This record gives sequence, C-alpha cells and structure tokens, in this order.
Amino acid sequence: MELDKEQQESYFIVVRRTKKGLSRGAIGRADAETAAGELIGMVYGGSGSARSSGAVKKQDTYPLSRHQAQLLLFVSPASRRLELLSNVQLFSAICDLAQDDLVVVKHKKDFQPCLVKNLIQIGKKDKPGVLQMLGFELDLVDTERDILTKKTVPLPFFSAADIVQVAPSHLNTRQPLRVSTDLGLNRKAVSRIYSMPALNSRNAKKGSILSNKDMANSIKALSHYSLEVGSMAEVISLNGLKVYGVIRWIGVPVGKKHYWAGLELDTEATTCSDGTLGTKRYFTCEGNKALFVPLTNCKPDSRFLFNPNENEKPLEPPSVILLEDLDEDVPPVAEQDVLSHLVGRMRGIQGHFNSCYLDATLFSLFTSSTGFNRMFNRSADSEEGISHILRRDIVNCLRRSGFVPAESVMKFRKQLGCKSFATEEKDPEEFITLLLKDVLHIEPLLKIRSHGELSQDAYTHQIIVEKNQVGAVPSVQQLLEMSLVSSDLKFEEIPSCLIVQMPRFGKKFKMFPKIIPSTELDITDVLHCSPRECFLCGHVAEYECDQCLMDHKLQPGKIKQYCSTCNTQVHTHPSRQEHTPHKLTVPDHLPEDASVQRHQMQLFAVLCINTSHYVSFVKYGPDPRSWIFFDSMADRCGDDNNGYNVPVIRSCPEVGDFLSQSEEEISTADLSQCSELVRRLLCDSYMCLYQRTDNHPQHHQ
Ligand SMILES: [Zn+2]
Ligand SMILES: [Zn+2]
Repeated sequence: MELDKEQQESYFIVVRRTKKGLSRGAIGRADAETAAGELIGMVYGGSGSARSSGAVKKQDTYPLSRHQAQLLLFVSPASRRLELLSNVQLFSAICDLAQDDLVVVKHKKDFQPCLVKNLIQIGKKDKPGVLQMLGFELDLVDTERDILTKKTVPLPFFSAADIVQVAPSHLNTRQPLRVSTDLGLNRKAVSRIYSMPALNSRNAKKGSILSNKDMANSIKALSHYSLEVGSMAEVISLNGLKVYGVIRWIGVPVGKKHYWAGLELDTEATTCSDGTLGTKRYFTCEGNKALFVPLTNCKPDSRFLFNPNENEKPLEPPSVILLEDLDEDVPPVAEQDVLSHLVGRMRGIQGHFNSCYLDATLFSLFTSSTGFNRMFNRSADSEEGISHILRRDIVNCLRRSGFVPAESVMKFRKQLGCKSFATEEKDPEEFITLLLKDVLHIEPLLKIRSHGELSQDAYTHQIIVEKNQVGAVPSVQQLLEMSLVSSDLKFEEIPSCLIVQMPRFGKKFKMFPKIIPSTELDITDVLHCSPRECFLCGHVAEYECDQCLMDHKLQPGKIKQYCSTCNTQVHTHPSRQEHTPHKLTVPDHLPEDASVQRHQMQLFAVLCINTSHYVSFVKYGPDPRSWIFFDSMADRCGDDNNGYNVPVIRSCPEVGDFLSQSEEEISTADLSQCSELVRRLLCDSYMCLYQRTDNHPQHHQ
C-alpha cells in the first residue's frame, strides 16, 4: 500500500524561472494537473518541508521520481541540482548506487575515492507534507597501510552532487542501499579509514565477492587524484595537447588565487622557462622545460597508471569538473572523454526560437577547435559584455558541463546589435562575420589577392563555380581550387581558419546534390607566394596558365602551373598557342629541383542545412572515426508554443569510416546503404570549416 502510494506521487524540478517567482532548481510535488497544463502541488523548502503551494506551468518543469527528488533536495544551492540533472549518465549511475560501490567525491577541494555504505534520510520525520532529503554515507578508502594508526576522521553526509564519478562495479551481486535515519543534527557517525588488509578481512567476513585484486585495481585507478611534489603528471595544455612532466613545485604564485603546479616537462618548449614565472623563481631546471599551470589542470601521468582491465580505458577524472574553478579558457573536451561527457540527450547547445543557425555555428566553431581561444582575451569588455557572455556562458560552459541552456544563447543573441539576430533565422556566414569582426574584434581570416593585387579581406569564402567546371560529385578541394582560379584569386597567406561556403543559393537550391567534404585541404596551389610544383614534371613552377585549366587533355579542373621548360612545351601545341600564361612570384634563391612544401588544412566541422534547419558535424580528435553530430532541436518537450527543445549529440564514427574511402568510392557509394548521418553530411553541407595543421612546437601558455 505504502509503496503504491509512493509510486503514484509525481515530483518535478523547476527548469525555468516561473512568473510566480519559483527559481530554477526548486523541487516540488505535483498533486494534480489542470487542463491548462499547470501542475498543482507544493514546493519544498531547504529542510524538506513544504514551503508554498500553488500552480506551476508544466513546461517550466522536468519530472522526477521520488528517489530523484529526495536526492536532489539535499543538493544546494538549487542551481547545482540542474547541473547534476543535466549530466544524465552520472546522475542515473548515482541513483543506481549499491552497497560497496566505489565513487569519487569532492571533499574539501580534494577528490577522494569512497565506498558507498548507506543512504541517510535527513531532516524532519517523514510525515505528510515533508519530503525527506537523501544523502549518502560513505567510507573513505585509503591505500596507505599505516593509516590504521592514525586517528579516524568523521565524514559528513554527502549529497548526490558531491559525487563526481561512479566506478564500474566489480560485484556480481549488488546489495541495494539501506536507508537509515540521521538521528542527530550533529553528525557523529564515524567512517573508518580502512587500510587494504582491513578491507579484505571485512569483505571476507561478509562473504563479499569483491576480490582483493579487483579492489586493489579499483582503488589504484581511483586514488590517483592526489598529486604532490615529485608526482609524474600530465597536463592538457591550453591548445589541447597532452604534455608530461614531474611536479617540482606546488603553491599559489604571485598574483594568482588558486593553487598552481610548476612542472619540469619531459621535452623542451619554447614558451617554457627554467623555473621562473614572471620575475619570480619557484624552482630550477633546464631552460625551456618549466611549465606553470593551475593544479586542477594536472592529472597523474596516465602512461604509468595501472590499468585494471586491458580492454578498458583507465578511469579518468572528468576533466569538465576538475576545471570548474578556473576563470580561464576551458580547453575542448579531450578526445577520450567526448563519448561520456558530450554525447547524449540534453547535450550541446539548447535551441530556442529559430536559433539553430547560431547553435550549429557556435558548436562547429568552438567544440573541438581552439583556434579562436586566444582571441577572447583581446577584447577586454565588462562582466556582462558580449564576448564575456560568449566565453563564459557558452564556450566554457559547453566544454565544461557539455550543456548550454537556451537562456544563455538568448542572452548572447540579444546583444548582437541588430535585433533580428534574436528573432529571426539568419545565415551562418552573416553571423560568423558579425561574431568575428564585431564581437571578438578579429582581423579578417582571409587576405585575398585578386589579379595579383591585394584586395578584399574576408571571414569566409563563398565557392563560386560553374557546374561544368567540376565533376558531378565534386570535393571541397576541387571546388575551392576552381572557385579561386576561375576568378584569379589567391590567398595572401595561410589562414589560421578557413571557412568555405558551399555553392548553394538561398535555403533551397543547391548546385550539387552531393559534395565530398575533403578531410584535408591542400592549399599550396592557391597561395600567392608559396613555391609550387610544375604540374607536369614536379620542378619548381614559374608560370601559371588559367586557360589550360579546363584543357581536356590535362586533367580538366586542376590548377596548371609549369616550370619554364614545360611551359614552353605545353604552349607550342597549336590548341594552346593563344594562351597567355603569367609569371609566378617565386623566391629567387630556390633551385629548380628544390622540394616544395605542401600546406594542408584539416577539416574540423561541417555545418549542414536541410529544409531551413541547421545541424553540425564536428571532428573532435585525431582519430579518423572521432566524429559527433549535433542538433540543437533534435527533440522537443511540450507543444510548439510552450515547451523546450532537447538538444542531442550523437557519436557517428561511421561518418569517419565513410570519409576514409577514396573520392571515387565516396562519389559512387549507394547512399541507401549508408546511415542517415552519412547521407546528410554528403548531401546537405552548407559550410566546411578547416584549421591550420601546426607543425611548429606547441605553445603552452
Ligand atoms: Zn616542368
Ligand atoms: Zn595554357
């Protein structure tokens, strides 16, 4: 009977500030629902007792089970409840915890491995109108043997939000958690700190299946959160690269608020010092090897971590949480963490009111690429300034928590200057230009020479070709070359980011039913001053001939440049005698058989459109299969007028597999045999985004 009653009760959490003043994160119980879509019920105060009753619009809430409501009620402040709820995988694992499961909690600014003991009911006795909060009783796990001689320390009760990670259970049979009551307001319960032998004997007594080895492995994997001087550590530098070194110093550097680590790196880097930061010396090592970073950026060196299971990745602390205190640019989610932190429902940027052009563009630009990071620092505007909102509420939030609520995007949209950006669906290129030029104050990405003269600057390049100039299924490589050459345009220098707009007009008409998004773009032949290879013999080219471009005997569509010998030969042919090849600007000192360096850029995102709806594909790491797909309005809760969108990020390694094929295979592939996402990538591309592949030593700060 009791149980039936509990199951019928429905609870909710407020996800949007309501007109009646309920704040986000408030938890309540719905007793009835009106025809107008309002929930009638009560809202709980801090201690779990009913604080107010009334009505709340259903679309401003998200449904919870009783258990979820009890766990979340113990989380404060209320805003953290939504943060936890949005981390779907973690929260469902927390709701599902059983006895002796291993978790990691944040305790006194430290990450601690713990064993789950019991659920604790907190607050006033369970009586009508009261919802008791639930917390966890946890035992601290420690691997040091001499710990038994130390005094045991009482641990507080933990809320669900204190748990930052749940380890996969090694137990075959799992005991559900018992619920006990917190007898006094002053926490007296003492958690024993177990050494390994103690753990074993206790488990043996209880007949637990948790073996010595399993436990040791789990603890080893989990207890790598403590870093100290002398620890081998790895750091994800601001440009996303992993570097390794020994921690030589920990402390708060002059002018900083948080703990930093000084590392002696395994390898030299030009931006590193010999142990000084600013003018102060913190330790001494070889020159160009000392790197200073916030301590929270450091992790134990994963190369030396004991891996409990050959097939499993070592457990890693969620980087998104470790970085939460930093008022700095959050690096993109590491490749190995993307599936657990980004993929899922309510992930990415939440769409709202024609915002998909903006959601998909922001997601494409900032999820995996760090190209624009340093540009945030240039514009020093106020706390509520637009670049601050972009950096803090959108980019950092996306990378840290994997979810950006629609409110943040709307706040950003409203500050874009022109009112229509907040209400209408705009073209991504228009938005990108506004964003880079007026918000981030970035110089134009593309410096363009037209007929040899420096002319327009631009932020994106619109492909302009005629249909017969390329094949039926052209690649971006072919389109870009043709577009630039047929208008006699060249890039003055290698752009840091190259945003190419596909040849389509308006939202409906596309010139090609399919376009191959080249994963690598070779721009050597469209650079103004770069040495190039003769099209025929490979020697350094001195002439370029536009009229040879479509010559059907000479690979039509390919850019034609020749050394002086080949230039003479090609143009003695009667059909080409009228051509007027022009001389290239070639560095004088180059011998004619010098090898020509190729300049390549890598595809990191593709923006697609289908029936006025924009979505995005993002390549999130070096692995060819590291592709995700993002739709800010993939699903919807509530009706059209009242409700909210559910943004979804999907993993799509098949897109990577598909793109790994030859252009011939891609252009002839039977799309009915391919996944829907492969089809969309090939047929709906609107913009392809490329970034420079840097062969230079990485800079760390
Ligand atoms: Zn030649
Ligand atoms: Zn020619």
